Amino acid sequence: MAKPKPPVVPEVAVSFRELPGTSVGFWVVPVCPFCGAQHFHPAGAGKTDPMEKLGEALARCGQGRYVIGLPPRPKRKKERRAENKRARKEGGGSAWDDWDE
Ligand SMILES: [Zn+2]
Repeated sequence: MAKPKPPVVPEVAVSFRELPGTSVGFWVVPVCPFCGAQHFHPAGAGKTDPMEKLGEALARCGQGRYVIGLPPRPKRKKERRAENKRARKEGGGSAWDDWDE
């Protein structure tokens, strides 16, 4: 017996936007995987935690469901710190050694 395939629910990264002058927030879907348009999902107002509104949602165009979530965080740059260290070492100056009074 073949197992029935679970429906594929695409994941979309959203960004948070707040209506100016209000405490009403929205999760913004930049590109809908179904219709390609931008969709807004209410993220609650006031004391409501917007994070609670993340998860599976019906696309505003009604063409399907998707899972809205935060985009992955960018990785920290470790190389930058090592570069600063090297620069400091090389810059050890002997410019004052032959100072004549
Ligand atoms: Zn759509």
